[in-house]
Amino acid sequence: VEVHFEKEQSLWDFYQDPDVVHAVDGVSLDIEENDVLALVGESGCGKTTLGKTAIGLQQPTSGSVEFRGQDIWEAKAGRGDVSFEEIRQSLQIIHQDPGSSLNPNQRLVEILSEPLRHVHPDMDSAERRERIFSLLERVGMSPAADFGDRYPHQLSGGEKQRVALCRALLMNPDVILADEAISALDVSLRVEMMDLMLDLQDVFDTTYVFISHDLSNARYFTEHGDGRIGVMYLGELVELGTAEELIEDPRHPYTNVLRWATPELSLDATEAVDPPMRKIDIPDPVNPPSGCRFHTRCPEAREACKQGTPAREPVDGNGQEVACFREQPEHAYWESAPLED
Ligand code: SF4
Repeated sequence: VEVHFEKEQSLWDFYQDPDVVHAVDGVSLDIEENDVLALVGESGCGKTTLGKTAIGLQQPTSGSVEFRGQDIWEAKAGRGDVSFEEIRQSLQIIHQDPGSSLNPNQRLVEILSEPLRHVHPDMDSAERRERIFSLLERVGMSPAADFGDRYPHQLSGGEKQRVALCRALLMNPDVILADEAISALDVSLRVEMMDLMLDLQDVFDTTYVFISHDLSNARYFTEHGDGRIGVMYLGELVELGTAEELIEDPRHPYTNVLRWATPELSLDATEAVDPPMRKIDIPDPVNPPSGCRFHTRCPEAREACKQGTPAREPVDGNGQEVACFREQPEHAYWESAPLED
């Protein structure tokens, strides 16, 4: 999946009458097949918008989203080699609250039959049941025949999330967007669910986009899934790298703040950044700060940070990328005065 937003001209506009929030701005990102990408950042940073746009659930006002080289919205307009319907089947989502999308009046087997009936109208009911039961077993809901007969209110939160994963896998997807999919679960169940998703990745050849506000979960998921983490701040992707790169050697001051704000990472408190941020309040996304959007809160900010947007660039020739003037030795940042409050 490739997502490209041209700066300023290609924004997702969220209309909040009468103001417009640019939920994601100037992000360009490739997600490879069988990749694991976690997106982290505080609420309102645009990670869900980016994820949903990557799977064709939201349309950018400009820029492009491609799946296997096919522009998704060109396909939607009937100008593609592949149908929009086919693309959408390949791109599935698991929500934070799976219960809200499960019809309380239907048994699980009926709920799971619906998408299959839609995609495979010729499949008979015996075949459908067999497919559903086999997948229920795969996601750990055994005996499947027993679970298949249950109503949603007879399931725990963890079981509902397994049903959501089962429903996504029934479509044989290439990409699954897990949007805070484990956030509502108890800590022990979170690890179980992440392990299950990663185990099934090998079986189903799935690519994951894993959205979380919690850096420790993103770390677990990407370390075990051999993936990367993208750090988002106010609609921009400010750093990209493996969990080890971002936690051991963060290059963006916001990533540094984020890791210190995550007690589960057990960092050495004597090395904590002080002060972690110049201001605690998140700027108004309707009217974001000029220049580097983090400059109003960044402990490393200088006058030069108020002008121009730092581009995301590779760090030391490895896979890590960062958008910060401080990482550019020739930039006017180094000649400029520290920002006064
Ligand atoms: Fe901080 Fe300046 Fe880097 Fe932005 S460009 S993160 S304000 S040092």
